[in-house]
Amino acid sequence: MNIVLMGPPGAGKGTQVENIREMFGKTIISTGKLLREAMRLHTPLGEQITEVMDRGELVSDDLVIELVREELKGKSDSIIFDGFPRTLKQAKVLDEIIRVDVALFLSVEDEAILRRMDGRLTCLDCGAVFHKEYNPPKTEGICSNCGGKLGVRDDDKPEVVRNRLKIYHAQTEPIIQYYQNRGIFKEVKGSESLEETTRRVFAALGVQV
Ligand code: AMP
Repeated sequence: MNIVLMGPPGAGKGTQVENIREMFGKTIISTGKLLREAMRLHTPLGEQITEVMDRGELVSDDLVIELVREELKGKSDSIIFDGFPRTLKQAKVLDEIIRVDVALFLSVEDEAILRRMDGRLTCLDCGAVFHKEYNPPKTEGICSNCGGKLGVRDDDKPEVVRNRLKIYHAQTEPIIQYYQNRGIFKEVKGSESLEETTRRVFAALGVQV
């Protein structure tokens, strides 16, 4: 089964994708993480995208699709996509490359996202996501996953988050209709507690926890 996990920035995709992997033992393809890694390593791709990423805008379809094609080489099943597709073009190309079985949409209102993003922390090494209040790391400032240092992403700053939400509504939301038409769309409200959202995500995937 291949799963697309969608939702606005800050909906909790990064957290849920890890939960799904633990349960299903799947490969995660997170375009946001891959792009941040390219920036951190100053690869040619990283140099090209820094400004766009820092403004919270979308990296061009061609670059992202190329990245995903590379990641998918030799893989055809048990993949969870996190943050991809983000445009209709990406969704259509993905359908040409691989079979998408479920598009799981984590829905959260804009106001709740703006409140949530306020305390979001990301591991500078492995990219794991925490929240000061809702999902705190075991030790303050330290990643519970790899022991790396936690910090606030440049694009998690409030003015950038507002821009990301605007772009999300304009460019990413139309994909909902696309997957609804294909009959593989499932929506889970992501505004409850972390435990409740996780339970609903698993229920939508047919697993009772
Ligand atoms: P994320 O970690 O998924 O919130 O993504 C962080 C940033 O990476 C986004 O704001 C975009 O600048 C870029 N990005 C990630 N995935 C995509 C994508 N599928 N298409 C275009 N840009 C992307």
